[in-house]
Formats: sequence, C-alpha cells, structure tokens
Amino acid sequence: MGAVKKIRTVCRSCHGGCGVIAHVRDNKVIKVEGDPASPISQGTMCSKGLAITQLAYHPDRIRHPMKKTEKGWERISWDDALDTVVAKFKSVMDASGPESIVIGQGTGRDYESHLYRFANLLGTPNVLTAGHMCYVSRVGATLITCGNLPVADWHGHPRCIVMWGCNPQWTNPDEHKGVDFWSAYKKGAKLIVIDPRKGFLAKKADLWLQIRPGTDGALAMGFMNVIIEEDLYDKDFVNHYVHGWDAFVERAKEYPLEAVESITWIPKDLIRRAARMYAKTKPAILQWGVPTEQTINCTDCTRALVGLMAATGNLDAPGGNVFFVPPKVRSVSAFSRHKDLAPEQRKKQLGGDQYKLAARVALISPKAAWDAILTGKPYPLKAGLLCGTNPVVTRANAREAYAALKKLEFLAVMDFFMTPTADLADIFLPAGTWLEQNHIADNWKRHGYALAREKAVDIGECWQDHKIFMELGKRMGQEWFSTVETALDYLLEPSGLTWEEFKKVGYLKGEMAYHKYRQKGFSTPTGKVELLSTALEKWGHDPLPKYTEVPESPVSTPDLLDEFPYILNAGLRTPTFFHSANRMIPWLREIRPDPIVEIHPETAKKHGIAAGQWVTIASPRGRVKQRAKLNFGIDPRVVVAEHGWWFPEMKEEGHGWDISNINILTDNAPETLDPVMAATNLRVCLCNISPCEDQEEMNGWRN
Ligand code: SF4
Repeated sequence: MGAVKKIRTVCRSCHGGCGVIAHVRDNKVIKVEGDPASPISQGTMCSKGLAITQLAYHPDRIRHPMKKTEKGWERISWDDALDTVVAKFKSVMDASGPESIVIGQGTGRDYESHLYRFANLLGTPNVLTAGHMCYVSRVGATLITCGNLPVADWHGHPRCIVMWGCNPQWTNPDEHKGVDFWSAYKKGAKLIVIDPRKGFLAKKADLWLQIRPGTDGALAMGFMNVIIEEDLYDKDFVNHYVHGWDAFVERAKEYPLEAVESITWIPKDLIRRAARMYAKTKPAILQWGVPTEQTINCTDCTRALVGLMAATGNLDAPGGNVFFVPPKVRSVSAFSRHKDLAPEQRKKQLGGDQYKLAARVALISPKAAWDAILTGKPYPLKAGLLCGTNPVVTRANAREAYAALKKLEFLAVMDFFMTPTADLADIFLPAGTWLEQNHIADNWKRHGYALAREKAVDIGECWQDHKIFMELGKRMGQEWFSTVETALDYLLEPSGLTWEEFKKVGYLKGEMAYHKYRQKGFSTPTGKVELLSTALEKWGHDPLPKYTEVPESPVSTPDLLDEFPYILNAGLRTPTFFHSANRMIPWLREIRPDPIVEIHPETAKKHGIAAGQWVTIASPRGRVKQRAKLNFGIDPRVVVAEHGWWFPEMKEEGHGWDISNINILTDNAPETLDPVMAATNLRVCLCNISPCEDQEEMNGWRN
C-alpha cells in the first residue's frame, strides 16, 4: 500500500468553489476534506462535496465510451466514439447547416469556455443551457441595468442582509459560499428573509416576509414605494448615476402597500418595516436566489432588485452588492471565440428575434429547441450534444422535453451515469468529475478569484469535459490547443503564470476597488444604472420594471381553482442533491431517501393525508407522487415540492423519470415565459393533492 498524497483542489459538486484537500493513495481518492486555506470556503464543505468519493467510484458509473446498438449499449473506444459523433455532425451540417445541431449543458462543470468555443467554431448559434432561468438570467438582466452582476460583499462588514428566495446554507450561488453569510450574520447583521416557507433562515430572521410564490417583483416595487415615499433614497447617487429616475418614481407609485399586500399576502406594515430596515441600515447586502428568476417576471424582478441596491447607495459600496475585480486571467468570453460565429449564423438563433436578452447572452430557450425538433419550425434541429444535463427531469413540461429528445436523429451525451436523458442518446461520452480535472475553477471569477482545480486521479477511461470538447473540435477541423494544460497556460497568460506555477500558488485574486463608477461610470449605454432601460426600449418592451401576475394562479386563472385549489411551489432544494444529481449516492439517499412534498397540516387533514404517506400531486398537465411532510411553516394555500427526482435504482430505461418528476406538472407555453429572457415559470402553478391509492406498492418498492 502506497503513501497518502494530499492534493489541494476545488469542489464542483454544486456551482463550486469550496477548497478541498483530496487524500490519494495508489491513484485512488480515499477521502476529501475542506481546505482551511481556501478564501472561498475556509475549510468548510457540504454533504454533496464530501460524498464525491461515493460518486466517483460508484459501481454504476460509466467509465468508458458507449454506443447504443440494436442489442443495447456496447463498449467502444474513444476513437470510435469521437469519430461517430464527428461523422454524424458533418453529415447533418452538409445536409442542413450547422444550426441544425444543438449543444447543451446544465449548470456545468466550469466548461462554458470550451462548450461555447466548440459551438461557435462549429457555426451553431443554438446553445441550450439552464441559463434562461438560472443565474445567466440575472447576469443578463444586470448587464442591461448596471453593466455587470452585483455580488454580495460579505467581507465588507454588512450590517443588514436581505436573503431574497435564497438559502446559502443549503444551496450556493457561483460566488461566495454559505460560510461567509454565516460569519456576517454572527457578527450581528440584521437579517430579513423573504421566503414562502419558514426554513432555517426564516427562523433566525429579524423579519420574515412569507411571500405568495412568484410575486417577488411586486414586493420589490413595494419596497421601492416606501423608500421613495419616506425619502430614504440616496439622492446624490440617483441624481448622478441613475438613468430614468423620475419615470421610475412614477412607476413605483403604482405599487402602494395596500395593493402589494393584496398581491403578495404580506401585511403592509411588515413590508414597510423591512423596506425601512434595508434602506436605513448601511451597508446592506441583497442576496437573491433563482425563485425570483424562474417566473414570467424574471428580468423585471432582477431589475427592480438592482433598483433597490442603487437607490439605497449600496451598489459597488463596501458591504453592499459590488462588482468584484477579476484577476488578470483570460475571460471565458475571450476563450469562447464568440466573434467567430458568423453574423448570418447568429441570426439563425432559435427564438433570437423574440427573446432578445437570451440572444444577447448567447443561449436559446428549451421551448424553442423542443419546437424545432418536434415541428421542424422554423427549421429542424437534427442532432445534439448534451453535457452534464438532464432536461427530461429539470426542464419545464418534462414530457415535451422527453418527446423532443427522443425524436432527435442523433444525440451524444457527456455524463457520469446513465440518466433518463442519457437513455435517449446514441453515444455516451464518459466525463471526469472535478477530482479528474485540471482547470481554473470559478471560471467567471465574479467574486474576484480564480482557483486552481488540480486533478487528483484518473478513473477508468473518463476524460474531463474540456478534453472531450477539444478532441471533438480538432476532429471537426477547429482550432484548439494540444492539451488541456496548454489551454490553461493560454487562459493564465495575462497573469504571467503557467498552469504548473498556478497550481502551486493555489489562487489569484483581483485587486478590489469600490465605487468604480465614479471614475468611469457604469457599463451601460448611458453610463448610468438604467432603471429605465435603453435596451428594453430599443427592443420594444416596457423599459421600466413592473410586476406581471403569474400566468397560472388564483388571480389569473380563478376558473381552475375548483379542480386545482393550491399554489404549487415546485423547486424545493435540499443540501444533499444538486438539481437531478446525486440520487445514486448511498450517503445522500440515506439522508434524503424520497421526494418530499411539504403540506400545511390543516390542508393535509382536509385531504386525509398523514405525514409520511405518498401523495398524488396533480396540475393541469399531469400527476406525480411524492411523500408528505407536514409543515406549519407554509401557507395552507401553498404546497411545496422537491424538484430533480428520478430513481437510478430502477434499472429499466427511463429510471422512473416520470414518477416523482415535478416538471411533469410545470408549463412552458410561450405566454408563460419571461418576454425577453424566455425564463420558464418553474416555481408557480396550480395543483391539487390526494393520498396515493397505491401506498403499499410505493412503500414496497422503496423498501
Ligand atoms: S457547497 Fe458546493 S462547492 Fe462547496 S462542498 Fe458543497 S457542493 Fe462542493
């Protein structure tokens, strides 16, 4: 038995960034632990990261390329796999043009730079990501409002924290991790929590605002109404650095607190207290999560939140929401070669004419992709490469996603396991986990850091995603690098370091400066924070933020209430899973064995549902089953269900993708999407509940 070698690396079992020390013996990772020297995580790790060894060495993991044949999946060589993909792509391109190929990813493993480079050099504008309703949606909305994404400055000593649909102790954004929030909170910062559900943070909050799901945009405008009416805004800032302030003030007047109370179900006095606390306690951080983005109000809500940061003088101020300065490393955009996508190809982007903001951030909506496959309009998508994504579980209207992917002429996937989406593929390309990856972690560097993720081991024949894109690209005749590491040298070149040197340094940090707008303005056409957006104006949309009622709700579809009397908040997260990932990991399934639907005890009683029973949840689009947990901390009119469920233990094709998958119930009709970003309304629809008739069968199968 060899000696244990300790390798300093960086986790990517969620959006990533936690520093890790991997203990390696005889080319096997035997344990991981938090790295106390990490500037992001300071030695902490969550259950997902700690369970990586069970994922990486899982007996069901696919460790070599596979090809689907009439006899089922068969092992093939990398040469065979790559040649098959390339031959198919070339023939589709010859017959129908590169735009007939869709390249897709989920939340990603820090490979956006490589994925986009491959797509751009291929000539397809059709990149399908989760970004239309997750994170990139906030990047896009802040881009047109203040030029960049304002990130929480936890180390700037905030005295007030607004956690808006966000729980960093459970799930983390791309930037700083829960530990930084926790240390600011422990130092005495006031805490305002906006959440339909009384979770861990709501219990700790000075003020908890129990919001009707999907109405965050109205609440943000209500906050603004108080701040303007009570003269709590930063006049110097709005006079010098806000475009459209007077028009915005008029718009905020349309949200008096009586109206906002009626929309959001939050008592108006509580809204007033929260708005005052946020505006008067400086500096203040506003950290928001994806629930505000996964509705028709995605762009407007984010813009209203930026309005709050700007009006209170917390934008790019220490302890507020700031623009961190990245270290001197080449950007994802530079590596991606966006400029190499010919204008005539860019114009062919599916939905690009309609969803201008999505087009601006170079992605298409899933609905546009499914329509193109299923209807052939405006032109058919024929082939696809999907990387680390499971759209039949994670995208709205899952049955449509399933039907579309099944109809593709050719599909290749890059992943760790045979997922319900991979089941539909022709070629399986086995990807490496973050333990098997040399890369610059946190590639977007929005918290100001670039971190060295050093490969700890090789497992089977798996390749890190970057290498797969690179080798496919070279076979397509694209310009790439000789190795993963030479590409990293290129990315690092502005820093003066090579990959070998960077690994030893561990991380780079940009030199932070605050109030940068005082020297050079904001990166918008007017140089100001555009509360009246010149981009939206140019695209023919309302340039001011507003609240639009959720398309399916007690207000907009009262005729559905007899049959579907409850609001379904679909998307409850857990600390164990990252969207549809990790359901096969024993340690994590032991913590969370079943999909959970939370129901208020009074509501459950009305339907004869007891704690722990299986429940049928029905919406106008279908039915699924989850196990009941009773919770006094949710409104009796609301039901909260988990997303991302499939059952790897079911070995037949599909792995039970339609049993508990909450996206069977969600909608993706065009009228339900955000008008410029195409964000899907994943969070709010109407539903009904009833006890499952097959309790014994469900229990028996699970047991
Ligand atoms: S929070 Fe994310 S990056 Fe950190 S250990 Fe957990 S999964 Fe890994």
